[in-house]
Parts: sequence; C-alpha cells; structure tokens
Amino acid sequence: MSIRVTVWNEFLHEVQFPEVAEVYPKGIHGCIADFLNAQPDITARTATLREPEHGLTQEVLDATDVLLWWGHMAHGEVSDEVVERVYRRVMDGMGLIVLHSGHASKIFRKLCGTDSYMLKWREDGEQEILWVIDPTHPIAQGIGEKVMIPHEEMYGENFNIPKPDTLVFIGWFEGGEVFRSGCCWQKGLGKLFYFQPGHETFPIYHDPEIQKILTNAVRWAAPVAIPPVTHGNPDPIMPVRVGTAKTIAGLHEEKHV
Ligand code: ZN
Repeated sequence: MSIRVTVWNEFLHEVQFPEVAEVYPKGIHGCIADFLNAQPDITARTATLREPEHGLTQEVLDATDVLLWWGHMAHGEVSDEVVERVYRRVMDGMGLIVLHSGHASKIFRKLCGTDSYMLKWREDGEQEILWVIDPTHPIAQGIGEKVMIPHEEMYGENFNIPKPDTLVFIGWFEGGEVFRSGCCWQKGLGKLFYFQPGHETFPIYHDPEIQKILTNAVRWAAPVAIPPVTHGNPDPIMPVRVGTAKTIAGLHEEKHV
C-alpha cells in the first residue's frame, strides 16, 4: 500500500510574484507532489490556503499519512480550528514535514511549544553547504556527506526550538552563520521533521538531492503499525508464574556447591 501524502502550500508568492511563478509554474506544492508521485510507493495530493478549510478537511487529514507544510506570508490566516485538527492527527500518528519559513507557522509553534519564529535571516542568495550530521539516519540515505546549494536565504542560530531528538543536517552559509537545518522529533505518536532549505525564489525543490531528502523524509515520517495503547484505570494484571522461582540466595548457594 502506498504512503498517502498531502502537500500543503499557502500558494500566494507564486500567484503574486512573476519571478516566483517562473521558478515554480505549478506552485511549490505542485513541484513537490510531482517528484513524490514519481515514486512507486507514494501517492501525493495537494492542498492550499484559499481552498475551503484550507483543503485540510477532517476527511483529507484522515486519509493522510504524511503532511508537508510550506507557508510564509500568511501564517496568521490559517484558522485555529484547522491547526488543532492537524495537531490531533500528529498526536494520533500522522507524520508532519515542515519546510523552510514554515518554522513560524501556527502548527510548528504549537508542536514546538517555543517561539520557533525566532532565528537570524538574510536574503542575499548566499551559498549554503548542507552538512550531513547523522549519516546513519534514514533521511540521509543516498546523500553524500554534504549537499551544495548555490543560492539560499540565510537562516542562522539561534533558532528557538526545543532540542531535536535527532539532528540530521547542519547548514553553513557564506556569511559564517550556521543553522540546525534538519531536525527530527517524536510528537505524540507522530513524527515531525523540520527542513530549512526552500526559499521561494530559488529552484531548491527542483534539486535531485533535495528531492531525495524529502522522499526519504516522507518514508521516515509515515506511521508504523502501532500496538493498541490504553490509558486510564487498568484491569489488574495477573502475574504469570512458570515453575518455581529460586531466591537470589538460593542461586548463590547453588553456584558454590
Ligand atoms: Zn524564505
């Protein structure tokens, strides 16, 4: 069965700015859905801000294993009701991949529990070197020790996020700043990945290595079979006894016979 993905994009820059539309004629969401759909084990659809309920009805979310999120200028327009709905699904096991300026989105801030919009930034089109910090991680498979990104908006530390469970990438920028560019967390039963590259004026999601990372991230974030979990006041657990237990003292004596 294939992994069911929804790629969410606010889809405003591509409509308002011709230089962005030129890079992403089908929108950032269209570009990402296209390369994910080229994988035999992934089925991707898209959703955008201006659709009813931002395209994220309960029905859509219930049929989503992994949600990708790109937003920048309209975080405030995302309704709290939809944010709560996405949050509940993450708690239940849906994977969430937050991209680039999505660090300031309502859903990421809620999951982080910190002011994750706080970081350094500079829009100079500097070179970024994306260093693989954890080469054993599933998201880094098939990637060399680093990815060269010719032009990217600089994001720099300090990035006000909770300590990641796993740090997979660190980005270095020409100006000297560094950034935790690929961070993993477990949130409830769901997996959360934040990935920094992806400023809208640069063709970053067209890069085969970036596509490989995001494809790996979808597979990593997809829910696994979860054994039934119960909460509340449990029934008494009946101990299972097999044979006769020996006391520690007995074992000790036996050893020295
Ligand atoms: Zn940006």
